[in-house]
Order: sequence, then structure tokens, then C-alpha cells
Amino acid sequence: MDAADFRRHGHELIDWIADYLDGGVRAYPVRAQVAPGDILAGLPASPPEQGEPMADILADFRRVLLPGITHWQHPRFFAYFPANNSLPSVLAELLTAGLGAQCMVWETSPAAAELEERVMAWLGGMLGLPAAWRGCIQDTASTATLAALVCARERATGGRFNLDGAAAPQADRLTVYASTETHSSVEKGAKIAGYGRGRVRKVAVDAAYAMDPAALERALAADLAAGLRPACVVATVGTTSSTALDPLRPLGEICRRHGLWLHVDAALAGAAAILPEKRALLGGVELADSFDFNPHKWLFTNFDCSAFWVRDADELVKVFAITPEYLKTAHDGGVSNFRDWGVPLGRRFRALKLWFVIRAFGVEGLRRRLRLHLELAQRFAAWVQADPDFELMAPVPLNLVCFRARPRAAASEPELERLNAALMERLNASGRLYLTHTRLGGRFVLRLSIGQTGTTADDVAAAWDEIRAAAAAPYPDSGGGAGRRHARKEDR
Ligand SMILES: *Cc1c(COP(=O)(O)O)cnc(C)c1O
Repeated sequence: MDAADFRRHGHELIDWIADYLDGGVRAYPVRAQVAPGDILAGLPASPPEQGEPMADILADFRRVLLPGITHWQHPRFFAYFPANNSLPSVLAELLTAGLGAQCMVWETSPAAAELEERVMAWLGGMLGLPAAWRGCIQDTASTATLAALVCARERATGGRFNLDGAAAPQADRLTVYASTETHSSVEKGAKIAGYGRGRVRKVAVDAAYAMDPAALERALAADLAAGLRPACVVATVGTTSSTALDPLRPLGEICRRHGLWLHVDAALAGAAAILPEKRALLGGVELADSFDFNPHKWLFTNFDCSAFWVRDADELVKVFAITPEYLKTAHDGGVSNFRDWGVPLGRRFRALKLWFVIRAFGVEGLRRRLRLHLELAQRFAAWVQADPDFELMAPVPLNLVCFRARPRAAASEPELERLNAALMERLNASGRLYLTHTRLGGRFVLRLSIGQTGTTADDVAAAWDEIRAAAAAPYPDSGGGAGRRHARKEDR
């Protein structure tokens, strides 16, 4: 491919992306409507020996791959959590690819290191984090949690685990605490960081699914009595199931008393703290040792971009730094070498897209969009509450509504689960919207998460209409007599 070809196809692709993100995405089913293996079947078993024209590659992108794309940027994507994108972010990502810079140490791209420092300070100020904290960009919240767990491990073993591995004193006694609603990345991190999955204590939650500080105290006391060495508490602000808010201040006070590392995982909800009226979400965060949230979820910055702060950067860097001869430069003192802030050496120029997004939207522009999502979630929750055939299943502090259909006739829990699972599958198979489920207190619950860049009030109203209509229709696949008749008919 030469520059002329690049120019031609590049312009074509920019046009395609502009149309796609400017409403064109609505033409596609939200969830990919393919079966396992469908896409694979359309891909040749071996690579081409000779280069192919870009026009053919792009044509195959549309013909073979596009049907297998789930459209996360669709305004009726209500599944999981958002991974919202924006035009400025896409432009920055293009530039990042064009520059192709490796931003591992200051000297390998001073602008990347210093812009990262600046935008993280901007973002920390927008959230109201303590001014002395320092931050860097990680790929994901899972990586940030892992980094925090490793730091906690080193604090608890006096830096000996890094030196002696599992032979370090206390190394086989370390424990981690998180609520029963915590994200799976905590257990994954505990496996990798050498705690062992079995040493993650799942602390009980209250009626709003937030960690109960008294239950944490009890778990700590039991482990201490058993000769174990508590090392880390991971608090969640905005749990994945229901955006429950662990109470940071009492948890932080407990951690201070016991000398534990407190990591705050606010992967989704952190974004909301840019709203002055939501600042209280992070009340007590100043007692934490580290904090992370994902601009790649709900701050219009395309994946990947996870913003990670620590109270004491020296403590973090001491844990991760390692400088072989070939990476030594004349500038190692006095500059940020972000390779020492986490696992990877090579780093993408992620600060660029955050800078584009914050400047292009402005802080007020970002706030306006988040406020719309929050308001739409309240509106949807009110519709659920007002409808006798539905029920709200958790508080709605942010942009996620947990609910289920509860027809007056349906009685048992298993019956309600079948019915709601069938309702969800029917909606998602329609391609007109996409939502997912979770389990709260053992019960099967539907989640409607509002946070895509293009989502409007009409989209949320249309989703509610679809959900009510689908719930009111008979359920061929819920195991009743009607379903069996339906199945027989289909067999013929
Ligand atoms: C989404 C989420 C994660 C995982 O985020 P990644 O960036 O994909 O690793 C972790 N914790 C919470 C609370 C989340 O909502």
C-alpha cells in the first residue's frame, strides 16, 4: 500500500466511521445475530501468499466481519456497562496509530509522558481526588486492581515477596477483602499476585448491596485470630451488578487502623464524580491508597483507557521498577517513566485521546451528557415502579436500572427466572435493543445500563415499550403447554 492508496482508503474509512457514529449504526442489529462458527466459516484457512488490494480487504470487512459485530456504539446498547466512544477520541486514536510511538519511558516520547502527567492531573481535579495523588493510564481496571494487590502484598511483607517470592515471611498468610458483589478481577488479581483465590474474603453486603463495614471487621478479626496477615481491601464504587456504593469512609478508617492497602475500584462510577452533585460518591476516598476508573466506560474515550491514581507514587514505583542496562537514559531522575507504574513495558500513547476528549467536550460538555444518562435512568426506574407487572430490584444511584418482569400470575422464583431469561433472549434476538442480566440476592435480574454516546430519551422510551410488549406476549420457550405446541409446529 502506498501513500496515495492510504489517502484514498483513509478518506473512505473516515466517511464510513462518520456515517456509522452519526446514526448509521442504527441500521444494524445491536447484538450480532450470528451463531458460533459462522464468521470463522467465512475466513480462509490459510493466509494469502501475495498481498491483496485494500479494496478487497475492506469489502470483506463489510461482508464477512460486520455481521459478527455487536454494536457497542448503538444508542440502544443497554447491556453490561457502556464502552462509549466519541469522534474526538477516534481522531486521537488514529493519530496515535500514525505516530506509533512507544511511551515506556520519558525519553521514548517526552510529550506522551508529560501529557499523561497533565491530563491525569486534570482528571484528578475534575473528580476532586486529593491534589497530592499522582496518576497514570493503565489498559484496564483489572490491571489497576492487580497493581494495587501487588503493592498491598509488598507492604504486608515489607518488600520481601518481590525478593524471595513465596518463601518471604508471611507470604503464605496474606488475605484480601472485597464484598460479595465485587468484580471478578479481584479474584483474578489475587490468583496472579500470589495470594491465592481462596484467600479472597467475600464480605457480606447490606440491603443496598454495599459492603457492610461491621462484617469486614468480623472477617478481619477471624483471620487475625487464625494467624493470617490481612493485606488489602478492595472497595467498589458502583458494583457491576447493581452500581452499589461501598462506604469508603468507614472502610478507610478500618484499613488505616489495620495498616491495610485500600484500593477503590470505581471502574464505571468514577466518571460520575465529575458532577459536583455526585462528588459524595467518593467521600472518604482520601483514606485510600489507590483509586481507578475507566474513561473507556463512561467518559467518551474509546477502549482502552483506565485512569489509576496512588497516594504515594514512590511506594508503587518501588514495587514495579526494574531497570536493565538497555533501558537506562540520562533523564531517569526527575521525570515520569511510566513503565515503572505497572506490568507492561511498552505503552500506547493513550493520554492523547483523553486530551482530545476533555478539550473537545469541555468539562461542562461531559457533565451535560452524564446528567442526561442519570436522568434517563431515573425516568426508566419510575416507569418500572409504576407498572404492576414489573419490579425494581435495586436502588438506582447512577445510570443502571436492575429490574424484572413480575406478571401478576407468575408465582414461584424458578418460574420468574425462566420468564425473565426468555424475555431477555427475545428482546436481544430482535436486534432492536440489547440488555443483559445479573443475579442479586440469588434472583435473576435484568440490567438496563444507560451510557452510550448517542442514546436519547426516545431510545430509552422505545426500549421500555419493547420490553413491555415482549413481556405481555406469550412465552413459547418458557416450558408451558403453549411452548410445546409451538415447538412441534416448528419441527414440521
Ligand atoms: C468493568 C469493571 C471492571 C473491569 O474493567 P476492565 O477495564 O475491563 O478490566 C472492574 N470493576 C468494576 C466494578 C467494573 O465495573
